[in-house]
Formats: sequence, C-alpha cells, structure tokens
Amino acid sequence: MKKIAILGSTGSIGTQTLDVVRANGDLEVLGITAGSNIQKLEEQIREFHPKLVAVMKEEAAKELRDKVADLDVRIVTGMEGLLEVAAMPETEILVTAVVGMIGIRPTIEAIKAGKDIALANKETLVTAGHIIMPLAKEMGVQILPVDSEHSAIFQALNGEHHKEIHKLLITASGGPFRGRKTEDLKKVTLADTLKHPNWVMGQKITVDSATLVNKGLEVMEAKWLFGMDLDQIQVVVQPQSVIHSMIEFVDGGIMAQLGTPDMRLPIQYALYYPHRRYLAGDRLDFAALKQITFEEPDMDTFLGLPMAIQASRIGGTMPTVFNAANERAVAKFLRQEIGFLDIYALIQASMEAHKVKENPDLDLILETEQETYEFVESQVSGL
Ligand code: NDP
Ligand code: MG
Repeated sequence: MKKIAILGSTGSIGTQTLDVVRANGDLEVLGITAGSNIQKLEEQIREFHPKLVAVMKEEAAKELRDKVADLDVRIVTGMEGLLEVAAMPETEILVTAVVGMIGIRPTIEAIKAGKDIALANKETLVTAGHIIMPLAKEMGVQILPVDSEHSAIFQALNGEHHKEIHKLLITASGGPFRGRKTEDLKKVTLADTLKHPNWVMGQKITVDSATLVNKGLEVMEAKWLFGMDLDQIQVVVQPQSVIHSMIEFVDGGIMAQLGTPDMRLPIQYALYYPHRRYLAGDRLDFAALKQITFEEPDMDTFLGLPMAIQASRIGGTMPTVFNAANERAVAKFLRQEIGFLDIYALIQASMEAHKVKENPDLDLILETEQETYEFVESQVSGL
C-alpha cells in the first residue's frame, strides 16, 4: 500500500484524487484537509478512514468531531492542522490540491519531512519556486506535476535529456471568451465566465482560465519545474484541449502528450510515476475529433498572460504581488463585487505600486501577500 495525504480533498482535484484511490485499491489515504466543507469531509472520512483530518476553523472542527465521534480519527485545525497533515510521519506522497497561496507553508513542511509532492497547487511554485525547488533537491524529494500541461511535459521528457530541450510549448484552450475583444469583455457575467469549454474545475481556476491568468501562472510554474528561461516557453492556443503540451528538442523534434481532458490521468501518473495504470474513461477518437487547430494567444485582450510574464521577468516579490492581487480580485469577482476587467485593473495597479525586493524568504513572501491584499482593498472603493 502506498500511503498518501491530500490537502484540499473536497475540491475538484481532491475528489478526483479520491476517484483514483477508489479505482486502484493499493493507495491508502492517511490524512485529508478542507476549508469548511464538513459534509463532504464526513463522507470521505467514512469511506477512506483517514487517521488525521484538518479543517480551517475551530467551530467546523467541533461540528465534525460530533459527526464522526464513532470513528477513530483526529480532527485538527488551522494552519497548524494543515502542517500536521502535510508532514504526517507515515505518508510517502502529499497531494497539494488546496487553492491559493495557503499551500506554500504545508508544501515546504512536507518537503522538509521528506515527502514527494504531487503538486496541483500552482500558486505555491509561482510565488516560492526559488525556495521550493532547491529545497526539494536538497531533501531528495520529487515534485510530480499534476497540472495537465506540466504533466504532459513531464511525460514527454521520459527517456530524453533535459539539456536537449529547445523550448516548451504550453497549450491553452483560450477559455470561454476566446475570440472576443476588450469591448466585449466589459459586459461578461460571472455565469458566462464559469462556463469553461472543455474542463470542469474549481471556481477560482475557471475564472483564471477565462482571464488567461491561469496560463500565465502555468508559464511561471513551468519555469521553476523544468528550470527554463521564460524565452524558452511559448503558449499555443489549441481550443480542443487535446494536446496537453509539448516539448521541442534541439533537433526540431517535438514530443507531445495527447488525451481527453481528464485530470485523473495526470493525478494517477503522479501517484504511480514512473508506472502507468489502467484508467477507465473516454479515449481519444480521432475520427470523431477530425481536426486539431492552433492559434496565437491574444495578448492585447487577455492581459493575464502578458502581465504574468512581466511579473516573472521582474522576479523577486513581483510574482507574489501578481498572484495575491489576482487571488483577491477573483474572490471579489466571484462575489460579484467587481467586473471581469477589474481583475486586470487590480493586478496592474498592484504591480505598478509595488517596490520589488529580490530573493524574498518565506516571511517576506507572506508579508507581500498581506500588503497586496490591503492594497487591493484600498483600490476597490475607487473603482
Ligand atoms: P477547488 O476550489 O475545487 O478546491 C479547493 C480545495 O481547497 C477544497 O478542498 C477547499 O475546501 C480547500 N480550501 C479552499 N480554501 C482554503 C483555505 N483557505 N484553507 C484551507 N483549505 C482551503 O480547487 P481545485 O481543485 O480546482 O484547484 C486546486 C488547485 O489545483 C489550485 O491551485 C488549482 O490552480 C490547481 N489545479 C486545478 C485543476 C483542476 O482541474 N481543478 C487543474 C490544474 C491545477 P472546501 O471545499 O472546504 O472549500
Ligand atoms: Mg493546467
């Protein structure tokens, strides 16, 4: 039995990870965490029997303890609880499927405890890649990508030599507003934004896909995961989401990974790497698909991508500002407090106002996050 823990077990990636566990029979889930979804946690505890469960708030923990009083499980709370699940002594792999920068500290804690990381939480590498990657190397742990694009690159790298990579080609669906212009985006609603053409995901990443912030975060994530220069990473729009990403090698040869849009494949690949397991589900049917098309990303309309690249080029604390401003702006957009284009305006204003500090440590990253949240609040009243 391979022993794992999952941060964010009630979310889109978390529940699909449990689907993979259910389908295989040789994975044991020792720890799970959620923000506040007590009902789903109770179901998961009854089905998977973890020893340790973390929720964010004490009231939620109390309620959950009452619900599962008949079971042998310990319920812990807050960041301390998350850290405890991340570093549980018996686990081999931690699946980081929480959303947002909250994932940074538990990921670092797990690496220090020698766990391999199945990494879905991209915000962690975006803001703290310069801490996480060297630490993982020092501790001899693997960072196994779950994000489909990075998993595709990871799969395409099998048997190849890293130094022979010429560039990475990260594919993008273009999101629900592909083809629209800024003028059209003024009036788009939350419901329009949450209709992703190909993938069913959590709300935050679905909004990020529409703004192309998600693709920007993925470029930054790829830079850290694969040790690339930004100039070696190209985004290619491929609206059918069939090619999950590609590597162009120095001789011009291109390796790609294709498949139906199903996150269980990259999740399962990370959990069993370097092996593959049978996975039930739809297979690509080329006759039905007929064509795969390509476009350039529209960087003049979808500012999430160029702003992310700019933040990454500047480096230091700027990627944290980009990410934190986006997190706060998206939360406000989801509560329908601001419009779609205000997300770009808030990120841009936050980046312009920020004085960059080089090579931030964890405390400075978290301080920058707080300052950015406060800056976004101060700006919203003026929108
Ligand atoms: P979801 O919103 O579906 O799930 C997020 C999970 O994190 C839930 O378990 C949630 O608990 C928990 N959570 C939310 N806020 C907090 C908090 N403040 N403290 C502790 N736990 C919290 O997100 P996704 O599964 O879509 O995404 C997770 C990560 O994976 C993101 O970083 C995303 O970018 C990345 N990713 C997702 C993909 C996808 O297909 N969904 C694809 C590639 C990457 P609760 O249910 O109680 O709110
Ligand atoms: Mg992705």
